[in-house]
Amino acid sequence: MNRRIQGKAIKTKFLKDIFGHNSFRTFQEETVDSILNHRDVLTILPTGGGKSLCYQLPSIMMEGVTIVISPLIALMQDQVLALNQLDIEAKMINSSQTMEQNESIYQDLLQNRLKFVYVAPERFTSNDFISVLHRININYFVIDEAHCVSEWGHEFRSEYRNLNRLKQMFPETTIAAFTATATKKVEADIVKSLNLNNPTILRGKTQRDNLNIDIKKRVSNGRVQLLNFIKGHKNDSGIIYTYTRKETQNIANFLQDNNISAKAYHAGLPTDVKNEVFKDFTHDRINIVVATIAFGMGIDKSNIRFVAHTSMPKTMENYYQEIGRAGRDGLPSNTLLLYSKADEVQKRMQIDDLPNGDYKNLIYKKLEAMYLYCISSSCRHQSIAKYFDDEIEECKTLCDNCTKGEVQKVDITVDAMKFISAILRSEQKFGQNHIIDILRGSKNQKIKQFGHDSLSVYGIGNEKSKNEWSAICDRLLDLKALYIAEHKVLKIGSVGSDILKKKVEVLIDEDKLGYVQKEELEAHELSYDEKILEEFKGLRTQIANEQNVPAYVIFGDKTLLELSSKLPVTKEEMLEIHGIGEGKIEKYADVFLELCIRCKPTKLKQPKKLTDTYVKTLELIEDNNDIYTISQIRDLQLPTIVLHINVLNEHKKINDEKRVELLNQIVIPKNIRNWCEEGMKFEDLKQLRQYLYLFELTNNGSKNK
Ligand code: ADP
Repeated sequence: MNRRIQGKAIKTKFLKDIFGHNSFRTFQEETVDSILNHRDVLTILPTGGGKSLCYQLPSIMMEGVTIVISPLIALMQDQVLALNQLDIEAKMINSSQTMEQNESIYQDLLQNRLKFVYVAPERFTSNDFISVLHRININYFVIDEAHCVSEWGHEFRSEYRNLNRLKQMFPETTIAAFTATATKKVEADIVKSLNLNNPTILRGKTQRDNLNIDIKKRVSNGRVQLLNFIKGHKNDSGIIYTYTRKETQNIANFLQDNNISAKAYHAGLPTDVKNEVFKDFTHDRINIVVATIAFGMGIDKSNIRFVAHTSMPKTMENYYQEIGRAGRDGLPSNTLLLYSKADEVQKRMQIDDLPNGDYKNLIYKKLEAMYLYCISSSCRHQSIAKYFDDEIEECKTLCDNCTKGEVQKVDITVDAMKFISAILRSEQKFGQNHIIDILRGSKNQKIKQFGHDSLSVYGIGNEKSKNEWSAICDRLLDLKALYIAEHKVLKIGSVGSDILKKKVEVLIDEDKLGYVQKEELEAHELSYDEKILEEFKGLRTQIANEQNVPAYVIFGDKTLLELSSKLPVTKEEMLEIHGIGEGKIEKYADVFLELCIRCKPTKLKQPKKLTDTYVKTLELIEDNNDIYTISQIRDLQLPTIVLHINVLNEHKKINDEKRVELLNQIVIPKNIRNWCEEGMKFEDLKQLRQYLYLFELTNNGSKNK
């Protein structure tokens, strides 16, 4: 066997045996190869893309220890726990531990007893630590959340700047950097700041094709919209992001009043309360955390099924990172963003207070991009990709804009012209509200002060509500006919001038026209399969609680879903399931197989509920009617009556003899019986119909001749 094939076989074997995966995902193998070939690498993969495996697998194939630099303790804790579950020696060194604990880890390192050590970037300012590193066999360094190194990113951390010393101190040691969010600018900054040496750069597609994105204008305070969204997620884990601390508590209370298990989380809470909420959530003891953006960066929970925002995030980077926390296990997950113009105004006001300069302009731009994204009619996934300098096809099925189908378009060219002329007549010096006031003929002080009540456009749009004008303004921003300059001032772009010259017509989706909408509550009930899945979740929680680890560390949701639907009965069958390798078999096969076996008969024989219709058939059977008479009286087809007989038999309302007696009354015509005996099956029906049709056609043909 040539060496390359042999190498591949080893990687695939480790992938399956240790991690339980059958194949590599995009760029995982390339990253592993780059590390194994001692070449620096920067891998940009969306959240849930499987970055951890990229750096965990090669280390297992090497002799020494891998040093992973991670920004948050919570993040390290989760990774260490997950590795320990796979029987891989991993520890972390951090400020929350005692000197003795850290010292003992140094000893472990010096004795080469560890495969992974997780540290915070600050650690690289400690001489003790550096001196230990110089005395051990380091496989390579991993920089997790590498975007933190760049000031152009959204989560710059000054401690990450220390990492530029890594290459100076360890010039021969490979660096593997990972992030989920990096524009081309941030990518270049990472390479430069970490002094990466001719790195392999792997940029995965930005699309998260298990995430459904829905963006809605917030109706009133958004509570009903939120409740409708959550109702489709009974017993699922989810995060709801709100803008203020107070709102986290209000919404958590509101959900609790609706019998939904939720807790609030924000930076102002005492540390022990925060830790408890965090733990309750990761251990599946509560379903929902209602949080400010303070929550989440350290969250590595793979089974978050939904993320909702009750107001618009500040930047696309924040938004993408936050929704990215849903569905890391690859299962379909939902995201909802409720926004309003007021969100944009509120956030803009905060930026207004900052000193003028590049930084201020940058965050104005980021805010504008976020708002334009909300009001856009384009594919959401494609828009995110575009923002991060990536190009993808429209998702077609995974966002509100692609799936809303044919929507009536309304021609608003004349209104658009009115709006743009009002901007022009008031000399492009005012924001949206003032322009709407001019159009609607408002008598407020500001209008009088600037003499705008004497403009020709004053009052020419008073037949429309503020909401409708606001929607028209959004559409013009979306078309880039207008743009927002400093101090919220609306300016006219070249498309806007073309609209004024009647060169371009402006259409808007009817549902975006700003009519006030009402949301009504919808109902949702658990299906049969969901109930079986609940049993599996229960067992997982029980084991997780016993071991005091998060539930998903035992088995991810994807594994649980597959287990509960396939119900394997042997260890071999169980090994076929996603995410189950030898290690997990050894630990959990027995208890889970027991549950599979217990659920199997139930699954095979899902007894139907004994509703009225079955009872009516039963009465006719008890009156000794034959099956044909029953079918006639009930005005139901024979197959339906046979189904009733079987259900009644399952519920022991009629015994087996009676069932056979009734079924024997059915006469199958001789020719059909012959066909069946010759091997004709129900599935051949399509072919049979085709022949009947051909027979008809050719018969007619010969008659016509
Ligand atoms: P990221 O760090 O990129 O957000 P993770 O490393 O947390 O992603 O992986 C997300 C999920 O994908 C985990 O549940 C992990 O088990 C799963 N996963 C990783 N690699 C594979 C693979 N090759 N096949 C199937 N699942 C995988």
